Amino acid sequence: MRILVIEDEPKIAQAVKRGLELKGFAVDVVYDADTGLAHASDPDYDAIVLDRMLPGSMDGVALCQKLRAGDISTPIIMLTARGTIGDRVEGLNSGADDYLVKPFSFDELTARVRALLRRPPVQVGTSLKLADLTLNTGSYEVHRGKEPIKLSHKEFTLLEYLMHHPGQVITKDMIISHVWDQDADILPNTIEVYIGYLRNKIDRPFPKSEALLQTVRGFGYKLSTG
Ligand code: CA
Repeated sequence: MRILVIEDEPKIAQAVKRGLELKGFAVDVVYDADTGLAHASDPDYDAIVLDRMLPGSMDGVALCQKLRAGDISTPIIMLTARGTIGDRVEGLNSGADDYLVKPFSFDELTARVRALLRRPPVQVGTSLKLADLTLNTGSYEVHRGKEPIKLSHKEFTLLEYLMHHPGQVITKDMIISHVWDQDADILPNTIEVYIGYLRNKIDRPFPKSEALLQTVRGFGYKLSTG
């Protein structure tokens, strides 16, 4: 696995490089945001360790946003000296997958890189995608192609859950336990109603596109292509 480290402090950059290499990763280091952007667009990197404060025309947050806007889905861990909740939220909302506050231990960095590499590559930054359907978990926007789709809060949560499990049969019980809280008194019929709402918004208005929300008789539902 090949890792790109974008970090301007040479001591930290070299220490991260050595630490990750000892764990068997191939590591390239660049020291400013602009070189980082050029390297990060290379699909051969399996993960990126990105410092938040960088010299160059943008900081780590802006760099991350640029990559995600360009559909670069490489997992990103953001490093920062600052660890306020606002900073962490800003980092994650910019499309970083994880966040590590300096000083950090190499064992933790390595463990987090490994965890990111285990994730299925369905999510590009804050967007989930299936065929031409996209759901943005940061902005709460849903699109089919370029067409925006307005969903209620519950419909959004239901679609987000289904999009995390593409091609998998999801039972009504699974939906009840993942989309509603434990105090909610939900009957299986209610799920059918919500699935109907969702189908009317993501599939029915787009007859030229493939229907994505499928009923698997006797089992539940499946969001998939083909
Ligand atoms: Ca820095």
